[in-house]
Amino acid sequence: MAYTQFIDGELTSGAQRESWINYNPATNLPLGEAFHANAQDIDATVASAEKAFHTWRAKTGAERGRVLVKTAEILRSRIEQIALLETQDVGKPIAESLAVDVSSAADALEYFGGIAASIHGDYVDLKNAFGYTRPEPLGVCAGIGAWNYPIQIAAWKAAPALACGNAMIFKPSELTPVSALELAKAFMDAGAPAGLFNVVQGDGRVGAMLVDHPQIAKVSLTGSVATGKKIYAGAAPLLKRVTLELGGKSPLIVFDDADITNAVSAALLANFYTQGEVCSNGTRVFVQRKILNAFLAQLKERTEKIRVGDPADPDTHMGAVISAAHLEKVMSFIDAGKAAGATLLTGGDKPVKDFKGRDISAGNFITPAIFTNCDDAMEICREEIFGPVLSILVFDEEEEVIQRANNSVYGLAAGVFTNDIKRGHRVIHQLQAGTCWINNYNITPIELPFGGNKQSGMGRENSLAAIQYYTQLKSVYVELGNVDAPY
Ligand code: NDP
Repeated sequence: MAYTQFIDGELTSGAQRESWINYNPATNLPLGEAFHANAQDIDATVASAEKAFHTWRAKTGAERGRVLVKTAEILRSRIEQIALLETQDVGKPIAESLAVDVSSAADALEYFGGIAASIHGDYVDLKNAFGYTRPEPLGVCAGIGAWNYPIQIAAWKAAPALACGNAMIFKPSELTPVSALELAKAFMDAGAPAGLFNVVQGDGRVGAMLVDHPQIAKVSLTGSVATGKKIYAGAAPLLKRVTLELGGKSPLIVFDDADITNAVSAALLANFYTQGEVCSNGTRVFVQRKILNAFLAQLKERTEKIRVGDPADPDTHMGAVISAAHLEKVMSFIDAGKAAGATLLTGGDKPVKDFKGRDISAGNFITPAIFTNCDDAMEICREEIFGPVLSILVFDEEEEVIQRANNSVYGLAAGVFTNDIKRGHRVIHQLQAGTCWINNYNITPIELPFGGNKQSGMGRENSLAAIQYYTQLKSVYVELGNVDAPY
């Protein structure tokens, strides 16, 4: 396969472009060749997106919404094909790609398609006058994605942007160039104007070209804190708007009155879904001392039953991490945890056979790891690992755990397990995090805003809250009397 740019409704030529090989993380065999956008491609994509923007913004919200809803229907009708492409590209289990990745992309398109016709301003009654506001689109927006949820990230950015009347140029991670092209095709098949959703391929240099381009009005990134800081700085000279969905090291707090089975289920989901490569993961699991042994016994037993293996097998629970380099990074965190004195309760090794006895030694597999005897200062408890590594931290008092949970530069997510309804809310209200759960974890319905506080980012995706990040308000004063001039 060749993964080229998708500009003005079609795939462009890869000739005379820098290229790289895209690998399947489960086998490290090539999937295809991807072609880096050059400066001419960037100018062409911006010109095409501007043209589409002028056509698109002139449409009514209902007309725009219809295209988004149709795109969602097309994605759902192609779900098996796209889910398989995503699984081959990312290494995640096919059961997840089917149930979450493609479905949540379609959910976002349906949701924002549904509300496109209802985006409106306010009317303000004034003395002998009135005022009104118009939420107007920004223009051409850039979306820059991480590799863990490629089609979901593309849709979470495109759906609100397009619903508000903008055009979008999307750059997927160089590690996952595939599914954004499927989204682009679906938009075209749904009747979107050519250029409304373009895709450019390449590494951070292409991202930086989009950030620097004077005709791009806004940049929305899903990525690491380090990249977020670069993009924030890069957007500053032109005062471009940015939405930054960045990393985290989130706390999951389990009080001793919690339902232990539910809390363990959540801890597993919060650490091992998508091989642990989820930004909002609750990787610091704080357990109240009284239930520590019962919690650990169940956690270990259930972790060891996680079926690591071929991501294309519907029975697989956990696939391969994104690259050989990332696997080494995760392994080096595990070594650092051991060296710092934490106890590796289970996992953390590279399996040679999968749960059905198949040889998986060529892929980037790792068994889910649990560390106990951790303390807050350890690297494994401070840094985002972005792999299947869970750290257990023990606590005694509510005040203490709130302070320890907040002791992080990150503030993406947090979870609390307790059967005391008052305590649940009281604790959540004191946690410095943008996205929180009481008695569950990592549930991200399209109806609720998603995003981070502190260095985990700014702006919100999903829900009605996303609209303000893809529009600018115009205030209009209308005189009904005479102009009162003192001269
Ligand atoms: P990176 O920050 O490395 O990359 C994110 C994207 O930014 C990629 O497309 C990358 O290109 C691009 N990029 C890199 N440098 C620049 C630059 N200077 N200017 C513009 N674009 C640039 O993140 P990863 O892809 O490694 O993803 C993992 C990170 O993403 C984790 O920290 C994770 O927490 C975070 N994340 C946050 C989410 C959220 O919603 N809060 C959700 C999912 C992930 P390329 O990689 O091709 O070089």
